[in-house]
Amino acid sequence: MIELDTIKTSRWPEAVTIMDVGPRDGLQNEPYVLPAAKKIRLITGLVDAGVKWIQATSFVHPKAVPQMADAAEVVAGLPQRDDVHYFALIPNQKGYERARAAGMIHLALVLSATETMNQRNLNLSVSESMAIAEQLLRRAKNEGVMVRVDISAAFVCAYEGVTDPGQVVQQTDELLAMGADQICICDTTGRANPQQVAELFAALRHERSPDRLAAHFHNTYGLALANTVAAMQQGITFFDASIAGLGGCPYSPGATGNVATDDLVNMLNQMGVKTGIDLERLCDVSDFVQEFSGQLPPSAYYRATRVKKKVA
Ligand code: MG
Repeated sequence: MIELDTIKTSRWPEAVTIMDVGPRDGLQNEPYVLPAAKKIRLITGLVDAGVKWIQATSFVHPKAVPQMADAAEVVAGLPQRDDVHYFALIPNQKGYERARAAGMIHLALVLSATETMNQRNLNLSVSESMAIAEQLLRRAKNEGVMVRVDISAAFVCAYEGVTDPGQVVQQTDELLAMGADQICICDTTGRANPQQVAELFAALRHERSPDRLAAHFHNTYGLALANTVAAMQQGITFFDASIAGLGGCPYSPGATGNVATDDLVNMLNQMGVKTGIDLERLCDVSDFVQEFSGQLPPSAYYRATRVKKKVA
């Protein structure tokens, strides 16, 4: 059990980094398949709005995730910018090889904190995934590739319930010792609450550099921004978000997706925390999301500022 007096309560960072995962986590949880040219237009819009970290696609089996079958085509069409870090998600060695062949130098290796989630998602045990991570991280160091590891179900597992925080701390330590550049703590099911987030990050930041940790919140129960604040209070300054709130939750079919980048940037602007992202240009990208999805995006900021209401 973590002591509550280790939790800070009133300190905001001067700036935070946002990785937009909409082109990957967002689109992979949408029912339609967006053509590669439109994915590239989406990513180009994000770059134009000032987003410097983008999870552009994933190299997973096309049968498992048909939305990402065009990964190499998307990578080939990415705007060439030295100041933008494009990431591809990979589940294993095969994904590593496909991503490297496509020219990717920033990778996100995914594994789970819980046995059942790892089996269902990757068809591997947690220890098998950790062994794969060790091999890939060694290889990546030799090849000059940056790898962050995404630990899914870090708070609540869809199959096993509340995740043991000790397991997440141990996995984080092992992965950092193996040479992972960053560990992203993922609330895959969107069931984390700010108290749980504060406790886990308080434990994680102890003797670990906060800039090697990132947080990934889904807004399934409307708690993603509250969870973000709780993580920021623990010194976390790197957050994932999805443009317009694109996406969903594979474990809650009716739910919305990751926290909307628009909402996260709006909150941070209001708090005086810098992101380097232009909120109005970001909403121009959300206009495009609305256009191709045919649906009003979940982003609260977008709904409050961009939707033309009919007044009776
Ligand atoms: Mg996710």
